[in-house]
Amino acid sequence: MARIAFIGLGNMGGGMAANLAKAGHEVVAFDLSEPALARAEERGATRAASAEAAMEGAEAVVTMLPAGKHVRDVYEASIIGKAPTGAILMDCSTIDVATAREVIAKAAAAGYGMVDAPVSGGIAAAEGGTLTFMVGGTDGAFERARPYLEIMGKAVIHAGEAGAGQAAKICNNMLLGATMAATCETFAMAKKLGLDLQTFYDISSKASGQSWSMTSYCPVPGVGPETPADRDYEGGFAAGLMLKDLRLAMEAARSVDAYTPMGSEAEVLYTRFAEALGGAGRDFSAIIKMIDDSWTP
Ligand code: NAD
Repeated sequence: MARIAFIGLGNMGGGMAANLAKAGHEVVAFDLSEPALARAEERGATRAASAEAAMEGAEAVVTMLPAGKHVRDVYEASIIGKAPTGAILMDCSTIDVATAREVIAKAAAAGYGMVDAPVSGGIAAAEGGTLTFMVGGTDGAFERARPYLEIMGKAVIHAGEAGAGQAAKICNNMLLGATMAATCETFAMAKKLGLDLQTFYDISSKASGQSWSMTSYCPVPGVGPETPADRDYEGGFAAGLMLKDLRLAMEAARSVDAYTPMGSEAEVLYTRFAEALGGAGRDFSAIIKMIDDSWTP
């Protein structure tokens, strides 16, 4: 069993670290938040006084932080040059591709194996150990990271070189944002055209308009499987996080001159919903309420 330094024990990291501890690993945790740290301790981790202190004797390092600037700061100040060089470094945060590549290059130059390993799946999947990891890095780094990621996830996929995990994650979520917006506007229009929404679902879910946003995450209450729409759009995947991912996608699109009209329209819609209308904390399918302001779920 290994000694694992875990930095960032928030909504996602808390469950992930608990699963590593449950599997018998020695988890040494650090977070700037005292409640997060106390909860990690209750769930089997040992508390470190600082991120740097957590690195002592670490064989693996996992970070689950909010954004690129936190990842860069923590790796530069407290991990690279502080953890033993034999430790495998895994950043599971969702961040921009450029920062992921930059941090992995700096780690490699200092002699570390490192992967970017963002996840698909929310808090429930982090708790249940059923996340999907999209991993970027060399074959050697991927193989070293895999046994740890497999404890926290149900699928661990090597997406390519450094940064490829983040690239796969934002491409997937750009598609998700666009299909959810399209699914919402379609149901709103179907309603105005007098269609029964269950009947429309029965048709479209078996026809060419079908997508995950429709059949696994239908934004209409009482239609399709149970989703956040059935709980007045609470829980699920927050619109604010979808907006964060769409912004990362647009940044990546600009960096490679990719033409993404649907992705950029999704960003406009989610900016309006999450920021101008205060919907950041609602599930991302609640955007149907903005698309049709007469919508009565
Ligand atoms: P969170 O805000 O709940 O947790 C982040 C934690 O990092 C906090 O506890 C914070 O105190 C800590 N932190 C910040 N700066 C730090 C520092 N310098 N040193 C130590 N600790 C520090 O966020 P979350 O929901 O757990 O998300 C984490 C990452 O996972 C994000 O990148 C997010 O986009 C991604 N993600 C989240 C979800 C989700 O459903 N919540 C799903 C997939 C991916």
